[in-house]
Amino acid sequence: MTARKKQTRGTCYYCDNTYAKGGMIRHLRACSEREAAQVAAEASDRTPETLVHLRAEDAWGADFWIDLEVRGSTTLKHVDHYLRRIWLECCGHLSRFSLDGWGADEIPKSRRVDQVFGPDTEVTHIYDFGTSSETVLRTFDVREGVPTTEHPIALMARNEPPEAECIECGEEASWFCTECLYEENAWNTFCDEHMEAHPHDAYGPPMPIVNSPRMGMCGYDGPAEPPY
Ligand SMILES: [Zn+2]
Ligand SMILES: [Zn+2]
Ligand SMILES: [Zn+2]
Ligand SMILES: [Zn+2]
Repeated sequence: MTARKKQTRGTCYYCDNTYAKGGMIRHLRACSEREAAQVAAEASDRTPETLVHLRAEDAWGADFWIDLEVRGSTTLKHVDHYLRRIWLECCGHLSRFSLDGWGADEIPKSRRVDQVFGPDTEVTHIYDFGTSSETVLRTFDVREGVPTTEHPIALMARNEPPEAECIECGEEASWFCTECLYEENAWNTFCDEHMEAHPHDAYGPPMPIVNSPRMGMCGYDGPAEPPY
């Protein structure tokens, strides 16, 4: 028997149930609470349009992912804004979208989502050209319908916050040491008490564990909350 890495789980924002990362796409297609939200939206005065289900995922780790339903008429500028707010923003770095990472031409942020994301499209978003965070955005579904919220983007599902244990006592950890990370490439996490006792401070104060793939990069310290 081979050991399998445990798949991250995430929460569906319509029904509040948790599913494995791989099962969430299937669940969202069948979630009865999501269907109810779609029916309720039909009765609103919002105009029907193309709606795109995008999964955004950290390009370097499988643990951070979100499922978004984005209005086709929305521009990439809004998608950029959303990714910054929920995951990335530390000090206002530049960002870019492209079809194939660094090698490919930049897609202008003025471009509409329905002009960029067709079935099976994969787009790379890069935030900060120095200490880069790379996010892969992939189309899963495209439907015609009335948007379920007044916002350009609806958060449908998100990975559960990362869990970590204090390396000293095994209790729940809320901090990690950047000096251990940069000097020894070690992801050392601590509870409040043992963080205080840990001697490293070469890279500034301890960093909180937050639900973002940018942890440990360029002093990112959260809050990793969606903008709406
Ligand atoms: Zn659900
Ligand atoms: Zn920064
Ligand atoms: Zn501890
Ligand atoms: Zn340390």
